[in-house]
Amino acid sequence: MKPVIALVGRPNVGKSTLFNRLTRSRDAIVADFPGLTRDRHYGNGRMGERPFLVIDTGGFEPVAKEGIYHEMAKQTRQAVIEADVVIFIVDGRAGLNAHDQIIADDLRKTGRSVILAVNKAEGMRHANVTAEFYMLGLGDPVVISSAHGDGVRELLDYALDMVLPPVSDLPDWLDASGVKDDMPILNDADIEAILKNRENKDEPFNPVQDAERAARPIKIAVVGRPNVGKSTLINTLIGEERVIAFDMPGTTRDAIEIEFERAGKQYVLIDTAGLRKRGKVFEAIEKFSVVKTLQAIADANVVVLMLDASQDISEQDAHIAGFILESGRALVVAVNKWDAVDSYERDRVKVDILRKLIFLDFAKFHYTTATKGLGVDALLQSVHVAHAAAFANLSTPRLTRALHTALEHQAPPRKGSGSSRPKLRYAHQGGQNPPVVIIHGNSLEDVPESYKRFLEGRFRDAFKLEGTPLRIQFKNST
Ligand code: GDP
Ligand code: GDP
Repeated sequence: MKPVIALVGRPNVGKSTLFNRLTRSRDAIVADFPGLTRDRHYGNGRMGERPFLVIDTGGFEPVAKEGIYHEMAKQTRQAVIEADVVIFIVDGRAGLNAHDQIIADDLRKTGRSVILAVNKAEGMRHANVTAEFYMLGLGDPVVISSAHGDGVRELLDYALDMVLPPVSDLPDWLDASGVKDDMPILNDADIEAILKNRENKDEPFNPVQDAERAARPIKIAVVGRPNVGKSTLINTLIGEERVIAFDMPGTTRDAIEIEFERAGKQYVLIDTAGLRKRGKVFEAIEKFSVVKTLQAIADANVVVLMLDASQDISEQDAHIAGFILESGRALVVAVNKWDAVDSYERDRVKVDILRKLIFLDFAKFHYTTATKGLGVDALLQSVHVAHAAAFANLSTPRLTRALHTALEHQAPPRKGSGSSRPKLRYAHQGGQNPPVVIIHGNSLEDVPESYKRFLEGRFRDAFKLEGTPLRIQFKNST
């Protein structure tokens, strides 16, 4: 995904001039959308090796009926939803304008990265031209001349450096080792725990044992970084309900399991929030432990990943999401504190999630307010759906049929010109929670990763497996 830069500002500050300069060399307007007051232009640009997309948002021209405020809100909002970085352009010759202030306030509310650019500054002293714009509260302005090109390269450099890593880079955190030097939240003990966890992963599939496991109450782990609202959710779930059993282990490293009942259904909750029972209330004792989180994920059937809608998705959120993905556990996501973001911010939150956690696209996302118990029952519904998918029985005939339908739709590519095409013959189930599909055939080592993902999607569709990862393994016939 290319980074997206939006140009925002009053009419006549020089947005289209800058747009043309940024896209000129490529001469490529990729799409024109009929705008509200003017067209919105999307253009391709490139700086060195770095391609980008730039949007000229038109202008905040006052519209007779609805007024400039309305128009600005709309335009800014659109720019914010689509862009990674917003370049807010003001006119250095005209000076600071009341409308600039309104736009600045609007932009600040969005939480997006904003760069303030003072345009038309050719031949002017930087200190003079920028002074009054500090009042916008957007930090140091970058001084440019769109018409002459002065400062444009620096501006672009600055903008591209602010852009988040593209979504395609995310799975890097989830590479084979799963452990990286730059993972700030892990220490040696954590890493040991991850490695231990991984060794146990390939236990053989035992349908009888797994059926028993499926019949037991659903084991749920609520995980997430500190302060997202885990204890609040857990208290909501178990607070007014009968706590059937409670067991306080000796060390704080052991996960606590709490049984509870809701709407006539039994659950076991694996606590990662560090709760201690006091009287009838559970209070938090210890904020966050990676080891406990990893243990809880390993012990659970379904993991509830909790995010905080009032904060940006952080690297720590993504790391935890990565652990869940690696564990193969079923997953439901709770985007909590939904009450704390206004409707204006909600789209932004969703786009942020989409960009940073796109690898969780198999899971259901719920928007919750744990303090009021809002969205909690719907969340539990999805827990059931995910649990059912994780323990689904995938019969050999149906799996094999799904495999052949997929093969008819698109055969795996040949590896080299001389080599033969891989032959995929039949499929059977090799495990649950996560479901494992074992495919037998020949030359299967030549099946590319992309084709594996294609098959995964086909199996997922065929069996409606929602909320669980799916693993595919190949076994060459001898
Ligand atoms: P927009 O409405 O924000 O898209 O602004 P335009 O790009 O259409 O520019 C408005 C006017 O400002 C035009 O007459 C441009 O030629 C002029 N302009 C744009 N950039 C510069 C600049 O860097 N210096 C000067 N002096 N004029 C500029
Ligand atoms: P934990 O560290 O993940 O267990 O988070 P807590 O449950 O201790 O919650 C952290 C803070 O967020 C507390 O002040 C909660 O009252 C607050 N909080 C939790 N859920 C919500 C919610 O849905 N909306 C709002 N506005 N605040 C919440």
